[in-house]
Amino acid sequence: MGFYGGEPLIEQKKIFGCIEYIEKNYHEYLPKIQFAMTTNGSLLNQSIINKLIKYNFSILVSLDGPKDIHDRYRRFKNGEGSFDIVMKNLDLIRSIDKEYYETKVGYSIVIAPPFELERIYEFFSTERLKNNRVILMSGVEDHNTGFLDRFDMYAESKQLRSQELRLIKQYKKLLAKCEDSPFLENMFFRSLMDIHKRIVRPIPKALYPNGICLPGIQKTFVDTKGNFHMCEKVGLGFSIGNVHSGFNSESIWKIVNEYLGYTKECNDCWCLRLCKLCYASVIQGPEFSKEKRRLECERRKKGLETLLQRYVQLSEEFPDLFNKEYHEDTLTLEVFKFIDSWHSGHTADSDRRMQS
Ligand code: SF4
Ligand code: SF4
Repeated sequence: MGFYGGEPLIEQKKIFGCIEYIEKNYHEYLPKIQFAMTTNGSLLNQSIINKLIKYNFSILVSLDGPKDIHDRYRRFKNGEGSFDIVMKNLDLIRSIDKEYYETKVGYSIVIAPPFELERIYEFFSTERLKNNRVILMSGVEDHNTGFLDRFDMYAESKQLRSQELRLIKQYKKLLAKCEDSPFLENMFFRSLMDIHKRIVRPIPKALYPNGICLPGIQKTFVDTKGNFHMCEKVGLGFSIGNVHSGFNSESIWKIVNEYLGYTKECNDCWCLRLCKLCYASVIQGPEFSKEKRRLECERRKKGLETLLQRYVQLSEEFPDLFNKEYHEDTLTLEVFKFIDSWHSGHTADSDRRMQS
């Protein structure tokens, strides 16, 4: 159960009220629920931290790098940057429970121009932060925004590429010494492991669009009015039911079928097996957008080319690097089987299974 905002801790009373309600009325389920929250970290205090620890929350704190980089874009209404307060609050968590801090607190880093990737790496390698393993990196979306127009993005992208190349050299040096860097591992290794673990069986006669979930199964995003949506990445434009009447299978299949209309070219696309694009790549506000899909496909293919080159280089230099435990993505396989059975005409059966 994850809590998102804006900034979710603005409604901290509601969040913990909700958990206390579960604790009181559905006590037996509580140990099975994993709680998570993405927060900007500015509202954390001792009492909130104690509750987060009590319910074993995983928290993802938005932190973009050292003070000058973080404060460029993460500011309070009065214009002041939030870096000092976020770091003070992270230190507070560490002083209350170091193990919790290192195992349950991660960082969400938005990499925005002007790019200074190496300084961000150095910052996350400092004593204060280097042991936290979960790091999520994302860029600024370039669709429907004028934000990037203020930069020379050609020069910036060139800069970013050379910074990446220098960091990958650094990563190789660490690998050669059997040393570890959660930051570099997240940056270079995680996505390559996805390539390594790809499903390699022959492509079946009908292959459903690679990255998609069956809406409602993997995640359900519940808004404050009790309406169900696919997930936080898709937003509020496509309701799939509500807390009173449950999932609406008609709306779900409408979304799946409409999405299928945008996947015709996937049949001839070289990155079919490795592509993870889903509804979120087509949905723009309350509707599907062809243009957004086109841009996302281009970006995905470009990104995959780089990743494949990196995968081959690293596999050659470090043959054991990817020989870690292999887990087949059983959930995706289940979803494929399920959609297959529905399309073969077992509508009533599929509907029943979906409701359950
Ligand atoms: S990101 Fe895509 S695949 Fe994942 S839950 Fe959301 S809609 Fe489903
Ligand atoms: S990049 Fe686009 S066309 Fe290629 S498989 Fe992914 S969604 Fe399909």
